[in-house]
Amino acid sequence: MRILVTGGAGFIGSNYVRYLLDSRDDVDIVTLDALTYAGSRSNLDGILNHPNHEFIEGDICDRELVADLLEDTDAVVNFAAESHVDRSIEGSEPFVSTNVQGTQTLLDAAVDADLDRFLQISTDEVYGQILDGTFSEADPLEPRNPYAATKAGADLLAKSYETTHGLPVVITRTCNNFGPRQHSEKLIPKFITNAAAGKDLPVYGDGSNVREWIYVEDNCRALDLVLQEGDPGEVYNIGSGIERTNLEVTRAILEFVGGSEDQITFVEDRAGHDQRYALDTEKIERLGWEPEWSFEEGLKRTMDYYL
Ligand code: NAD
Repeated sequence: MRILVTGGAGFIGSNYVRYLLDSRDDVDIVTLDALTYAGSRSNLDGILNHPNHEFIEGDICDRELVADLLEDTDAVVNFAAESHVDRSIEGSEPFVSTNVQGTQTLLDAAVDADLDRFLQISTDEVYGQILDGTFSEADPLEPRNPYAATKAGADLLAKSYETTHGLPVVITRTCNNFGPRQHSEKLIPKFITNAAAGKDLPVYGDGSNVREWIYVEDNCRALDLVLQEGDPGEVYNIGSGIERTNLEVTRAILEFVGGSEDQITFVEDRAGHDQRYALDTEKIERLGWEPEWSFEEGLKRTMDYYL
């Protein structure tokens, strides 16, 4: 099976490419990545020259390039995105361009190439916030920040290509990932490196916002299962059930690193900051998946990587 992995030089994409090469011997992977500030060849160290892997630097909005790459490809896994909420609040243009138009370019090429499978990687943020309970796949999309709005747009577009063109699209919506190779602008890597350097840990608002955290390897295993066994046209939530407030995450990191509570500084809250996300994962569990990593084990592995 030949798979085009877009955004494979980013955090989750690079973990996923490694996961596929380690766990399957029936795949040839082409990684397409524009190497924005968030992507890096070094995330693919050790697998750039793997016999079943080829890296191509390029943009998912490049229609000709994408059409060429899809000519002899069986499946697309689309991780490529602008992914940082704070940046989307500062300026949403690159988010619309990559997350919406880039996805549309891939979808058009996928229809022309008569692809067997198109896996669109999405996020729990498309549902908006939930104060109690969990979101199921049938819940309406009510994104509240520009990043989430562009991801919701891409989900709807992808789903519409399944309905109107019969493209076998499957969509996954995952909670917050953590693990090796995440960009240092994101909460866990930033706080680990700040804590170890004796610097401040800037917590938004009062730190009470709740996120559901999944270790990236658990997510990669779920994505591969959905790629192989998910039903076309379906959405699958991927979550761990591990909920932590930002303050709890901050304290756990300080405890691991041996830092001081004095390093915590409360800063002005993010505009429109979603209070809580949580996912109902019954549907993917019916495919036979369940998370294996505890928060503490995953955090320890992540710490080892960054420190
Ligand atoms: P990331 O920012 O680490 O990686 C994104 C990658 O996409 C980078 O390598 C970047 O160079 C590449 N890219 C950006 N624009 C591109 C373009 N126009 N053409 C080709 N490549 C381009 O992001 P991530 O955290 O690894 O997230 C990957 C995907 O998973 C995204 O679609 C994101 O929305 C989704 N997701 C992430 C999380 C999370 O917690 N990180 C949770 C749920 C869903």
